[in-house]
Amino acid sequence: MIRTGIGYDVHKLAAGRKLVLGGVTIPFELGLVGHSDGDVLIHAMADAILGALGKRDIGFFFPNSDPRWKDISSLVFLERISQMLSEENGHIENIDSVVICEKPKIAPYIEEMKEKIASSLGVDRSVVGIKATTNESLGFVGRAEGIAAFATCLVRKAE
Ligand SMILES: [Zn+2]
Repeated sequence: MIRTGIGYDVHKLAAGRKLVLGGVTIPFELGLVGHSDGDVLIHAMADAILGALGKRDIGFFFPNSDPRWKDISSLVFLERISQMLSEENGHIENIDSVVICEKPKIAPYIEEMKEKIASSLGVDRSVVGIKATTNESLGFVGRAEGIAAFATCLVRKAE
């Protein structure tokens, strides 16, 4: 059985936070606000995988009211979701994603992000697609008030 899932997430940029994207800390004067590390890319991917599994969203499994997830690396969410996949006999065929970010430039970090994400999910790095674009200076992303991410995932499930 082949199933797809989609995920979307936005986090606000603010001073006094580390910028963590795809599990990689990127030097920048602003960081993403969130209960966890605010890793918008990983959250979108997590929702895409959960969607393909027919499960509820990341907020259900990792609620921001739970002190266990406070300031935690979102890579931990992927490790948990990888366990859920195994329990359901699910296997990720591929993940694709887009990060929409006006600044900083994230292209130099993409290979490292793929490595970290693939390792947390226990898949080959060729399974993980990450693309980056700007919002052409338009809207909240264009004003660098936040970063958005989309992800899709294809899961093969054994009966
Ligand atoms: Zn999020």
